[in-house]
Amino acid sequence: MKTHARVIVIGGGAVGCSALYHLTQLGVTDVVLLERDELTAGSTWHAAGNCPNFSTSWNLLKLQRHSTKLFAELGQRVGYDINYHVTGSIRLAHTRDRVDEFRHVVSQARAQGIEFQILSPAEIAARHPFLTTDDILAGLYDPWDGDIDPAQLTQALAKGARDAGAQIHRNTRVTAIERTPSGEWRVTTNRGVVQAESVINAAGYRGGEVAAMVGEYLPIVTLAHQYLVTEDIPELVARGAARLPLLRDPDVSYYMRQERQGLILGPYERRATAHWLNGIPDEFANQLFDDDTGRLEDYIAAACARVPILGTAGIKTVINGPIPYAPDGNPLVGPAPGLPGFFHCCAFTFGIAQAGGAGKVIAEWVAHGQPEWDMWPLDSRRHLEFANHNYTLAKAIETYQHEYGIGYPAEERPAGRPAKCSPAYLRLKAKGARFGARGGWERAVYFPQAGDLRDGPEVSFRRPAWHASIARECKAVQERVSVLDLPGFTKFEVTGPGATAWLDRMVAGTVPRPGRTALNYFCAPNGGIVTEMTVTSLAADRYWLISAAAGERHDEHWLRAHLPSGGDAVRVENVSARHGSLIVVGPVEHILSIYDLIWEAGERFGISDYGLYAMDSLRLEKCYRAWKGDLTTEYTPLMASLDRFVKLDKPGGFIGQEALWREAATGPRERFVPLVVDAADADAAAVSIVHAGDTPVGLVTSGGYGYRLNQSIALAYVRTDLAVPGTELEVEILGSRRRAVVGREPLYDPGNERLRA
Ligand SMILES: Cc1cc2nc3c(=O)[nH]c(=O)nc-3n(C[C@H](O)[C@H](O)[C@H](O)COP(=O)(O)OP(=O)(O)OC[C@H]3O[C@@H](n4cnc5c(N)ncnc54)[C@H](O)[C@@H]3O)c2cc1C
Repeated sequence: MKTHARVIVIGGGAVGCSALYHLTQLGVTDVVLLERDELTAGSTWHAAGNCPNFSTSWNLLKLQRHSTKLFAELGQRVGYDINYHVTGSIRLAHTRDRVDEFRHVVSQARAQGIEFQILSPAEIAARHPFLTTDDILAGLYDPWDGDIDPAQLTQALAKGARDAGAQIHRNTRVTAIERTPSGEWRVTTNRGVVQAESVINAAGYRGGEVAAMVGEYLPIVTLAHQYLVTEDIPELVARGAARLPLLRDPDVSYYMRQERQGLILGPYERRATAHWLNGIPDEFANQLFDDDTGRLEDYIAAACARVPILGTAGIKTVINGPIPYAPDGNPLVGPAPGLPGFFHCCAFTFGIAQAGGAGKVIAEWVAHGQPEWDMWPLDSRRHLEFANHNYTLAKAIETYQHEYGIGYPAEERPAGRPAKCSPAYLRLKAKGARFGARGGWERAVYFPQAGDLRDGPEVSFRRPAWHASIARECKAVQERVSVLDLPGFTKFEVTGPGATAWLDRMVAGTVPRPGRTALNYFCAPNGGIVTEMTVTSLAADRYWLISAAAGERHDEHWLRAHLPSGGDAVRVENVSARHGSLIVVGPVEHILSIYDLIWEAGERFGISDYGLYAMDSLRLEKCYRAWKGDLTTEYTPLMASLDRFVKLDKPGGFIGQEALWREAATGPRERFVPLVVDAADADAAAVSIVHAGDTPVGLVTSGGYGYRLNQSIALAYVRTDLAVPGTELEVEILGSRRRAVVGREPLYDPGNERLRA
């Protein structure tokens, strides 16, 4: 075993081997993978191997499609045969909302070059001859779905990496990790020590154990997931080599596919079961949990009714294996704050389907400092310190139960809440506020009043039951005094004799003078938007930086990673927990009394509360961009039409300046614009597609209804030549194209007169 490498990957499952393979593809070949048992000994060996492209998330769709494209050519590329069956798949819709979800995903997928299709019941039956289509409204067909042998996939990735120069050491358990004085990582194993510049934690459900070796807590719990494999079924034997498409019945919550001449049935059951709450047994490897088919009975019955041949076969095998879950079910991928060169790539619940894309993303983090795609939903910094063990468990179980739930645009799921409350929480609750959690903080989303709520669901792709509540709250903001409790903003205090000069290099715009406030954008070296902060200069070399609640770890990491080394010229202090925010910002302990005083004073004028949903509508009308919705690392401030916040000729320079010079010279390929949409009963959800004639020309990054303007609004990036007010385009909403006209921002109060009043 070599004693030094550029990168060490810990864990030889599908994900670790993919990370290793992708590193070598980027030319980083001085790499070593350490596996405590055999390759695939964790969750990989027993996975069902389903490889969907489908996801309601734009990012995951991209990630999974990278995987399926890679899987199709990997065997040949590296000279290792893989059983990979591209059978196509059908998802069934029992409800109108599910059909709406399908329509939304079909259009997203098309924008990524993936042709999904909506099938009628007759078309479903034609593709799957053993399925009853009674009570089915429609199906979604993914021609590129299928199943892969996870062990062969892992071995092929390992072979490709080895052939390019990587070393793989099996039966090599990492037992300790420390940082050397030179800033490298010293990794101790049962077979010796290896030192490296970078480490990737790809230890699957043991990702938390590896993180603990460097003093970090990762929010991961292990749940059990089961599938059954049947004996051969004569009808399938009779079909010879022909394979059925993979079937998913998300409204019932199971998948079913052909395995040799039998079927696999895998439910995501309500009785989600957690294991190892007090630690993972050291000896567990290449093992399964005991069968627990009692949990699956209802699902087996439903599946037999849907595909009667399933009920004719005996069960050959039950696979009940460990599957790691972070609170939201997405993996933890990205840099570990405060640990330069240490990365996570673990906690995958769909780690076969995502292995290819995840390997690309993490390899780019390590090799280039940033991945090509903005993968915030997977970013290991998205969970804040409140995501402790109990929270993670509650949320993971809820996520497992909703694994096939409908991906509504706005849904506030209850598990693990409340985690963090402002002092005004109980006051607002007593007034009937409905809450949503943002960065763990309970924030009122709206305040229903008698007569407000119309019949209909609280969550929907169409206008939900609370539409009238939001209209009332927006009107109140427009006409009277209104108050919003907005706890949890991320806040940093930056001080020190070098503070001004340092901030000047960090932001693309101008650092405000003492007593002034300015909105500022922090760019990556490639010009992409890393974060947005409101910078206030309290005095010379003393600043307050305020950003989104969810970005606390992410933003702190970015700031600290760029601090000048040595000395005390710049100090960054995270003061988020110390201060709350109403409309005005004040010391926390006074929030409740300030709230009461505002109400007392406002009652004479007719004061109202309002919530986040109203705020979202108000900001759409003002075209204020939302971080990680409208602003991501895939867009620069010039694309985001934020030119006025970029000082391209700043003499001292700033991070990303050169990339923005280059972009300014040719002009950005896309520009951010508001669109006024002729919507019917559904507004444009994020990642709706913008068309000019039959050509896709842009992407909606957020949308909704503007209650003061009485118009449906979408904020979108469109091809630059079309980003001209008055241009007529179309936005695809739930399968239909709606006329959309490019507006001039801000749509509401264009002269900002009310803002300045
Ligand atoms: C029943 C079941 C069916 C599934 N079906 C599917 C499916 O159809 N499609 C899909 O996409 N996903 C599926 N999954 C999920 C999938 O199995 C996992 O997401 C995937 O295998 C995770 O891969 P990984 O490489 O991240 O982790 P693992 O495969 O768990 O690999 C982690 C590796 O790290 C090693 N390791 C841990 N600690 C150390 C240490 N200290 N030193 C050295 N090495 C260490 C382990 O030994 C292990 O080999 C299923 C899961 C289950 C339980």
